[in-house]
Amino acid sequence: MTSDDLAFDRDHIWHPYTSMSEPLPCYPVVGAQGVYLELADGRQLVDGMSSWWAAIHGYNHPRLNQALQQQMAQMSHVMFGGITHPAAVALCRRLVAMTPAPLECVFLADSGSVAVEVAMKMALQYWQARGEKRQRFLTLRRGYHGDTFSAMSVCDPENSMHSLWQGYLPTHLFAPAPQCRFDDAWDEQDIADFAQQIDDHADSIAAVILEPIVQGAGGMRFYHPRYLQAVRALCDRHQILLIADEIATGFGRTGKLFACEHAGIAPDILCVGKALTGGTMTLSATLTTREVANTISNGAAGCFMHGPTFMGNPLACAVADASLALLQEGGWQTQVANIEQQLRATLLPLAAHPQVADARVLGAIGVIESRHPVNLAAIQRFFVERGVWIRPFGKLIYVMPPYVMTPAQLEQLTQAIHAALDRPALFSDA
Ligand code: PMP
Repeated sequence: MTSDDLAFDRDHIWHPYTSMSEPLPCYPVVGAQGVYLELADGRQLVDGMSSWWAAIHGYNHPRLNQALQQQMAQMSHVMFGGITHPAAVALCRRLVAMTPAPLECVFLADSGSVAVEVAMKMALQYWQARGEKRQRFLTLRRGYHGDTFSAMSVCDPENSMHSLWQGYLPTHLFAPAPQCRFDDAWDEQDIADFAQQIDDHADSIAAVILEPIVQGAGGMRFYHPRYLQAVRALCDRHQILLIADEIATGFGRTGKLFACEHAGIAPDILCVGKALTGGTMTLSATLTTREVANTISNGAAGCFMHGPTFMGNPLACAVADASLALLQEGGWQTQVANIEQQLRATLLPLAAHPQVADARVLGAIGVIESRHPVNLAAIQRFFVERGVWIRPFGKLIYVMPPYVMTPAQLEQLTQAIHAALDRPALFSDA
């Protein structure tokens, strides 16, 4: 890429959560192989982000590429209305087999946010079909479910700046973020506020929506499995649907195939995305039970009112099917367990560092919460100079590497984090 290209990018192209008038620098990447990103100047960076949870098998994986090439030779796309195709059937068969038993009806969509829209719409249509006016959702503070409007309405009100959208966003119910951590002794009090809200508003709540076990973009927090069990029990008691957003946690990231397994529960509606295609392209799925699907279908509308143009895109389905086949071979379990062990050994002791407020690890996710917000441009430059790609936000420096990362590559990531903590200039209030 020329400097002209970079200037054009800076002047004309939006990047995620980035100012157009004062953009932070962008790094030109021209290739990706295994766990490495290749910069335009030839430098190779060890990728700690898996392109935001997605590239679990590493980049340019031959099996994923082959699936894409084979599918491309057959057909890249065809509408899904009135048509089906082998790639969609193969993928959905696998999704139904891999996810908890009651989930058996699959809606394919384009992105995580749309999967969440679909899940929320399913819950609303379900209650409408049952003749009950239930239009509120109960969720948790510090949650994150996407950037479209319904998804945003159940994101943490402060992080998602609900104040910006006042009068426009529907107002839902928020319980405090769980405080009891994954490894703590369980404290029944942690669920008290949530239980109270569900008791108080049961008749108007369509569904509870939450990220099971790991609250991701809202703070990278890991909460207690008993909390999730209690939520399931309360939903059952009040006949409220439970939507689990496993878009970030799904497909092995937390050490279980799905985070719900830590609590031994199944949701009524499940959203997956991100790692579904091994990070190759965008695709998501919302799965639900036969009961929810049939109730919706037997309601006044006669069907679920949703149908995106690129629904069931064959290329995306084929590569997702190949990615899930790789997972089903089972190597991820040892890989994630090894990554977890190494992250625990290297990151948890950093909790004693004066710059660090907290260090936590679950599965192949390692988080350092600093005392001061990072200076993003400076710390990003520092990491790139050290040959790693880590993109912190706020006070969170975190990694979720591809499962295929070797111990030496992971060491490079954790050493870079340690080195950054020793540089006060990389933190804004320092
Ligand atoms: N839910 C969760 C838990 C997520 O982490 C994300 C993405 N960070 C989304 C939903 C939204 O997915 P997408 O960005 O693909 O729309």
